[in-house]
Amino acid sequence: MKEIAAGVYVEDRFAGGAVGLISSEKGHVLVDTPMLPSEAREWRMAIMQISDAPICGIVNTDYHPEHFLGNAYIGPARSYGHAASGKPLTKYPTTLEQLASAYRETMPDVAQEIAETTVVRPEVCVDSEVTLHLGDRRIEILALDGHTPASLGVLLPEERILFAGDTLTDNEHPAMYQANTLAWIDTLERVKTMEVDTLVTGKGALVDKSVIDPLIAYITEMHRRVSDMFAGGASRRECVDKIGMLDFFPFDDDEATAVRKRRRGNVERVYTEIRIASKKKRRA
Ligand SMILES: [Zn+2]
Repeated sequence: MKEIAAGVYVEDRFAGGAVGLISSEKGHVLVDTPMLPSEAREWRMAIMQISDAPICGIVNTDYHPEHFLGNAYIGPARSYGHAASGKPLTKYPTTLEQLASAYRETMPDVAQEIAETTVVRPEVCVDSEVTLHLGDRRIEILALDGHTPASLGVLLPEERILFAGDTLTDNEHPAMYQANTLAWIDTLERVKTMEVDTLVTGKGALVDKSVIDPLIAYITEMHRRVSDMFAGGASRRECVDKIGMLDFFPFDDDEATAVRKRRRGNVERVYTEIRIASKKKRRA
């Protein structure tokens, strides 16, 4: 794990996403939890080795399993999630089954444990922002609408650090399949105005604000291309096939399948948004 400021850590070696830890003598606040049960337990042990202060809070930056599932294996601790995560969490039996099936052949024990995981819903629902005072430490939990309607960030104003979750990517194709893309652009513009130097992405990359404009450009261009094709009568499938955009961010050959799949999800989402907006316009 990397200590990025005194008592502030990032661990990026777990499956799924990265996790953060903000420590004080009063207790620990966690940013996300590891997806796999064994890794969540391992993370808990690592935290206990830093100090035996209690784990007093878990902030989930969104409801995707790679940020959220480990809550069940870390607690008891008060968990903070966005108010809008309630509805997606009702679909978790399916989410757990899909995730378990990905491990069933290679790691049947892991699959079994995932399938039996208790879904720990947020105890405190955040609408816009909540401030925690932990000893001398000030921790601000902020709604960051965009990547999902239930995305949160964790801001440390003294340390000028923002844990941005999947709202930020380090020059790679973002995941937009549950996004409100226009809200995402607004959120990114807002992050640009925040007084922070270090931004932590959902995968644990430590970046500065220079990653924001390329991400805004990607979302904006995706919108423009899909809008043009939609206006020209293209189907969702045609938009996926003709969108291009792969050259926007670099990726390795072994990531190509995953990036194409992500691009398809992104195009389909933007197509849906544009179709809904055009229906509303016609009705107005
Ligand atoms: Zn996510």
